[in-house]
Amino acid sequence: MSFKTDVNYRKQSLLKLLNAVQIYEEDIIKALYDDFKKPAFEAVATETSYILAELKFTIKNIHNWTKPKVVLPSILNFPSTDFIYKEPFGKVLIIAPWNYPYQLALCPLIAAVAAGNQVVVKPSELTPNTSRIIAKIISEVFEKNHVECVEGGLEISQQLLSQRWDFIFFTGSVAVGKIVAKAAAEHLTPVVLELGGKNPCIIDSSANLKLAAKRIVWGKFLNAGQTCIAPDYLLVQENIKSKLIDFLKLEITNAYGENPEVSPDYPRIINEKNWKRLTTMLENETVLLGGKTSREDCYIAPTLLDEPSLESLVMHDEIFGPILPILGYKTEEDLHKIISKYEKPLSLYIFSENKSFAKKIIQNYSFGGGCINDTVIHFTNKRLPFGGVGHSGIGAYHGKLSFDIFSHRKAVVKKANWLDLPTRYAPYDGKLQTIKRLLKWFS
Ligand code: NAD
Repeated sequence: MSFKTDVNYRKQSLLKLLNAVQIYEEDIIKALYDDFKKPAFEAVATETSYILAELKFTIKNIHNWTKPKVVLPSILNFPSTDFIYKEPFGKVLIIAPWNYPYQLALCPLIAAVAAGNQVVVKPSELTPNTSRIIAKIISEVFEKNHVECVEGGLEISQQLLSQRWDFIFFTGSVAVGKIVAKAAAEHLTPVVLELGGKNPCIIDSSANLKLAAKRIVWGKFLNAGQTCIAPDYLLVQENIKSKLIDFLKLEITNAYGENPEVSPDYPRIINEKNWKRLTTMLENETVLLGGKTSREDCYIAPTLLDEPSLESLVMHDEIFGPILPILGYKTEEDLHKIISKYEKPLSLYIFSENKSFAKKIIQNYSFGGGCINDTVIHFTNKRLPFGGVGHSGIGAYHGKLSFDIFSHRKAVVKKANWLDLPTRYAPYDGKLQTIKRLLKWFS
């Protein structure tokens, strides 16, 4: 059996990775700052500590997860013992984005290795400092024919996609997700697509407005709004809208001060292209707070917009930046008209003390995952599947689910020889009633 499927080898590799990520933690934090001024607090809270926890959890459970699992046999096959074997897919390609460049490259890598695959990781070219450290860690920890990091941009990504893979794990935009899915279809390669969307955040009049504002501001402006599960736009019941806006303004100032440009806790937009895309969204809109931008520094202040038209640029695509449109609603029909205008989002949030309203929203709309009375935090529970639905993605991971998606589950029935019931064998003459009765009893 080759090293790819040897569990002890995988565990040893993951232990080496654990050692390396601990040694390089400070370098990673610095690289993330150099790439787009990600504050050390956010780097630790959302990237390095997440990877440490995922690694430790995987190392602890790898022997248990990889064992063939015995399941109850079908009585129709009596006597038998039935198993699920976990088998690696083989050659796996992981393509990562830039917004959580370390975590979103390493989290799938850990699971792919645990499941026994050979892996190629392509980090984002837009975070070159982080990409370099990822490449360094991988080259120091793994044998080249086991895990390799290929750095580069579009061309490298396209070259990789033109090859045949046994599994592709992609995190990024919907547009590139479609390119990946097309390339994978050529060889019928299974894919997981972790994409984005326009995430609604609903606040009704029963909500605790001060706390809601605090949690919305945190989830929206974390990473300067460049988070796939950040609230994209607010839908606020008309009668509490102005009060909520006051609280939002207060919470933004509490978090980042009067001038967020000098706050050590506020990152920058990743590059000039995205800065331009975002600043264009501000044109001709009513700015309630923020709106200040600086091209040299790729800075955009935390910005609140009042009632942009549904036809506007800001309400057209995923924002993926620190701009928060606020739309009032009166009735549930108003809500429905807006939410159903868009593809199924990656997340949805509701702030409400009205349990039946919250339950109705959760049941009526399809979305990847979300929270009642908070934002973003569903991401942190490794027992919850993380992924989209429809245009926001295919497949979900985190914790054991990550191991599962990188494994083929092979069904095996071990039949005993001490009994061989004759019913299923031809000639069938005179057996039809018996088989009908048997199938009815045991179905
Ligand atoms: P992106 O799709 O532009 O790039 C992602 C990766 O694909 C990069 O490594 C890039 O080099 C590569 N790539 C870019 N264009 C390509 C092409 N034409 N062919 C092949 N490969 C190509 O995404 P991004 O800008 O890095 O990230 C932002 C997007 O990712 C947002 O839409 C966000 O919602 C989404 N995202 C989703 C999740 C999630 O977990 N669901 C997490 C983070 C980001």
